[in-house]
Order: sequence, then C-alpha cells, then structure tokens
Amino acid sequence: CGIVGYIGKRDTAPLLLEGLQRLEYRGYDSAGIAIHASGKTTPGLKTAKTKGRVRDLEDRLPKRFQGTAGIAHTRWATHGVPNDANAHPHLDAAEQVAVVHNGIIDNAAELRAKLEADGIALASDTDTEVLAHLIGRSDAETLEARVQEALRHIEGTYGIAVLHADFPDRIVVARNGSPVVLGIGEKEMFVASDVAALVSHTRQVVTLDDGEMATIKAGDYRTYTTEGSRTSSSPETVEYAA
Ligand code: GLU
Repeated sequence: CGIVGYIGKRDTAPLLLEGLQRLEYRGYDSAGIAIHASGKTTPGLKTAKTKGRVRDLEDRLPKRFQGTAGIAHTRWATHGVPNDANAHPHLDAAEQVAVVHNGIIDNAAELRAKLEADGIALASDTDTEVLAHLIGRSDAETLEARVQEALRHIEGTYGIAVLHADFPDRIVVARNGSPVVLGIGEKEMFVASDVAALVSHTRQVVTLDDGEMATIKAGDYRTYTTEGSRTSSSPETVEYAA
C-alpha cells in the first residue's frame, strides 16, 4: 500500500516512521522497516515489522536501530492474511535482501511452488516474498542487474524498493502499475509511493513511469528501464498544500 525510503546522512528510522504516518490516511493493516545498520552496531540489514499501526512498529523497534539508509512499508494485504510474518519487508533466505512491494504478483503461486521445489523455505504467505528470493538467488554482478533479472519472472503490478546487505550505498526501486516517486534532497534522497510522504523534506521530485527503475544514493540518482537503458528525468517542483 505505502512505501517510503531514505538514503543520506540522517538517522533513517525516525524519518521513515514519519513518512509512513503521512501515508496512514490510505489505510493499511501492517507496517515494517528495514535499514542498513551502521554506527555502534554490527553492520548488515536489520528489520522490524508488525501487524497493526505505525505506532506499534515504533514500539517494536529494537534498541540500536541506527542507520542512514532504509525502506519502510504499510501493507494492505492481498495475498496472505494480515499478520507479523506477512508484513513487509520480506527477506531472502540468506537475509541479505529486503524488499517492500505495493501491488499484486499474478504468478506468485507458480513462483512460490518453484522456489519450494528448490528447497527454499518460505517465511510468509505473500506474493511479495518471491521477489526477495529471486533477487537473492541472482548472481548478476550489480544489484540493478539482480533486480532486473528477478523482475523478468514477475507478472503483475509492482512498486518496489530493495536493500541489499552487500550494496549499502544504494536503494534500487522499480515501477510497473504502482506509483514510485523520488524525492531529491541535499546530499540525501527519498523515495515514496506518494508525494505526501516526502514533501516535508523536498519539493523536487521525479515520477517514475511504468517499466522504469531508479538507483538512489545519498548524493545522486539515475533512472533506467527494466531492460537497462538509461532514461532522462529531470526533477519537477511539486506544489503541495500540506
Ligand atoms: N500484494 C502484497 C501483499 O499482499 C502487497 C500489498 C500492498 O500493496 O500493500 O503483501
């Protein structure tokens, strides 16, 4: 239902929770967050998720949930009941990939069966989880190529944001039928499914088209198609009555 992401210099969890709160008006049943942990903690992905409200997620955040890059989600269940396990983000088996997803993967049942036949134990009943495993299994060199490879197996709609433990300098996002907007800041970048989540930080936005992806880093971003060719996208200034 709702996606927010941040990469920059600030502590990400409070920013992402605030972004999720701005998306609450859309309705949702669960909330979750994944960050690249940094500072006085073991580096790597850390996640927290729960059925319920953004406030419940806040209560559930572990101590030392610090990091300057992360993604978060409010879920409106389509595949799998609202419960903690089905809340996003979803991880691959090695817990190196975290994915948040809006939309519906039409061939999820088939992909889930294939993954299970390959010995992968699925942790949720969602359509989304297959994406995390497909990205995790790809041996393409870049995160961008791994996401592209995974998306080639997907039929359906998506707005996604992806973190990978081995690529802490970036968030990769993609859109097909579910909105994704980038928010361009000063040495920091935002991503969201709805400008409402980012206009308190920046009015400079790039709206992705269907079939388009982006890589955001603290200092820059680039957009390209799911086939890999670069697209041009200059930021627009959004007018927004807060
Ligand atoms: N289809 C996904 C799920 O049921 C995403 C739903 C959403 O857009 O929130 O988990």
